[in-house]
Amino acid sequence: MAATLLDGKALAEKIRAEIAAEVSDFTRRTGVKPCLAAVLIGEDPASQVYVRSKQRACEQNGLTSRLDRLDAKTTTEELLALIGRLNSDPGVHGILVQLPLPKGIDTTRILDAVLPIKDVDAFHPENVGRLVQGRPLFLPCTPHAIQQILIRHQIPTAGADVVVVGRSEIVGKPIAMMLMQKGPGGDATVTVCHSRSHDLPSITRRADILIVAIGRANFVTADMVKPGAAVIDVGINRTEKGLVGDVDFEPVRQVAGCLTPVPGGVGPLTITMLLQNTLLAARLQTA
Ligand code: NAP
Repeated sequence: MAATLLDGKALAEKIRAEIAAEVSDFTRRTGVKPCLAAVLIGEDPASQVYVRSKQRACEQNGLTSRLDRLDAKTTTEELLALIGRLNSDPGVHGILVQLPLPKGIDTTRILDAVLPIKDVDAFHPENVGRLVQGRPLFLPCTPHAIQQILIRHQIPTAGADVVVVGRSEIVGKPIAMMLMQKGPGGDATVTVCHSRSHDLPSITRRADILIVAIGRANFVTADMVKPGAAVIDVGINRTEKGLVGDVDFEPVRQVAGCLTPVPGGVGPLTITMLLQNTLLAARLQTA
């Protein structure tokens, strides 16, 4: 039997409606509209699309957004000065620096400069440290999206064998950390694989929950998946056939128990989690 599709679009709509209701209640009580400030450097077309979707999502759910666009020749010092202004602006609650930054800009210095309480992407070392210690301020958006897919579809994580393929700072490492924490949506036995792992299929075949975030089109084939497993495909790869994930969708669908599609899986929920973090940031700064 073909795997159940985990429809990220439908779930995102449901969670966005919950967030919109919370935003409306917060604004009525405090007079404050949560505001996300996006920073976009250069002309990368994909980054422009992402920033536009994030702004649209804010506006559709009662938050406000602002955009600072700088050209690709911007220096690290100029960008640091902008981050400093956004940090001290009480009308800005969340700051999002769209990645990747052009070559020549020191990404680490920029991300480290965002005030932790406005760091809605949760990239600042203080927020990463808090996550590792199990007392996060903000959860990073894509890992949080993955965890919500598991929780809301009642896919049990406690005691489950989870295999994460990919060890990036944005997806692989934080989702592994979140799923091994104690508590709901956690308590899993987590294995993290990467490009140096030996005999990847023998590891992925052990997974009750297989999470793939490597950026290689159709990389995970049906023989790498345990029958009945939950497969979360984080990859977004632009190919001649359009957008595809890291998972070879149709063959894996015949083996897995449930599977996220690409597009329409993790992606829509990632933006939703950004809205949630912006509301949380406004709450923390208004308290
Ligand atoms: P990244 O920073 O490029 O990291 C890729 C990871 O995959 C690395 O850890 C790398 O291992 C590992 N890897 C690469 N080739 C491999 C192989 N053949 N076997 C095993 N591991 C391999 O990627 P990322 O930022 O995490 O993004 C991954 C994918 O997710 C991309 O397609 C990206 O577009 C997508 N993404 C989607 C969302 C969303 O909202 N849906 C959000 C973020 C990212 P090494 O460390 O050994 O090099």
